[in-house]
Amino acid sequence: MHTISSKENPWTRALAQLEHAGSLAHITPTLLERLKKPDAIIDAAFSITLDSGEDKTFRGYRVQHNNILGPYKGGLRYHPQVDLDEARALAFWMTMKTALLNVPFGGGKGGIEVDPKKLSEAELERLTRTFTRELAPSLGPERDVPAPDVNTNGKIMRWIVDEFSTYFGAHTPAVVTGKPIEHGGSEGRIEATGLGGSYALFSFLKKWGKEAKGMTIAIQGYGNVGSYLARYCSEAGMIVVALSDSKGGVYDERGLDLEAIAEYKKENGTFAGFPGKALAPEDILALPVDVLAPAALENAITEKNARDIKASIVLELANGPTTREADSILQAANIQVIPDILANAGGVVVSYFEWLQNKTSEKWTKERVFEELKEKMETASERVYEVAESGDMSLRDAAYVVALQTIATQHGE
Ligand code: NAD
Repeated sequence: MHTISSKENPWTRALAQLEHAGSLAHITPTLLERLKKPDAIIDAAFSITLDSGEDKTFRGYRVQHNNILGPYKGGLRYHPQVDLDEARALAFWMTMKTALLNVPFGGGKGGIEVDPKKLSEAELERLTRTFTRELAPSLGPERDVPAPDVNTNGKIMRWIVDEFSTYFGAHTPAVVTGKPIEHGGSEGRIEATGLGGSYALFSFLKKWGKEAKGMTIAIQGYGNVGSYLARYCSEAGMIVVALSDSKGGVYDERGLDLEAIAEYKKENGTFAGFPGKALAPEDILALPVDVLAPAALENAITEKNARDIKASIVLELANGPTTREADSILQAANIQVIPDILANAGGVVVSYFEWLQNKTSEKWTKERVFEELKEKMETASERVYEVAESGDMSLRDAAYVVALQTIATQHGE
């Protein structure tokens, strides 16, 4: 699937992380075994009629990893190469993330093996509705709550709500999150992951006695997450010196003009030609900055490039951006890694707020969403910091320990 380097199987990495953290958190063998296997995998073949009149069969899947803390929660992606091991890993990371942030959800992930760019809008809608009917008995606000992911969006979530509501016999917006605001979505969802990442970073800087103001940051990936992270870091006085996307990037040690760059990228679709030093996609990792934020895809930091990193802090906004070998290299070099399951959890936190608003028919203001997001991110960051300090472990190990202990308590251990 979408990997920068597909060398490490994400599920192998997830299992190794689980074994290691499981022993640090002293969870029982029973719970460990349960978490090593997803609760269920729905792997379905289904057909739709294309605009040409021809029938075509597709494969769709949903990994329901664990629901000890609440309904399965996680994205649905539409992509030509469905990789079940990657989905298993992503579902497991959702279980860890929701537990760490103390939201009452478990972990899930799914998708359809399809290149959505090759379908018309009507075909995409039929595909989504047919897949929803396949999944419907396993979905529901108290059972499994999907969300957008790669190549899926608010419009697709609306079709799912509509189809599920027909199946269920009542309008059920809380069956998915990430809906458009006018159709039951939450204020602040679009900013949530980047903003939440900045809250986590600022919490740790405070603990380490550092000032955000004046620190430099380079961000790999200028999508939803990277662009909002850039905005909120800059608003706090940090200097965003480099940004990149899949084609390359731009670097200016005096700081980039974020408004100008957003406009330029929108008009030209690329950073190429923007004033500053042009960067090849891989160059961004080695820049002399205080903070490096991988906000693109999995496996960006590997044993091949980890030694080139000069930042003293890595803020993992992407899911699984650091391979295990690279993680050991960063740790040996005393580089602090704020782990993905904490740094990028803002999205699922605001998804939880959306689900709550739907269930109570409330509408929160953006200010309230941001305030409650800040509180959740700060509480989890503080807990991770304390466990890391008292147990003399990395922030990643501490984050897993906090998550596993939360699940163990709920499991009655
Ligand atoms: P997006 O599709 O909006 O943006 C991805 C960006 O990464 C694009 O700018 C793309 O050009 C860039 N990219 C791809 N390959 C690259 C490469 N080799 N070098 C540099 N840039 C590259 O996606 P997004 O929603 O911003 O998500 C980014 C990451 O954050 C993903 O790993 C995703 O799983 C994770 N994440 C997203 C959310 C969310 O709420 N959107 C929540 C949690 C985690």
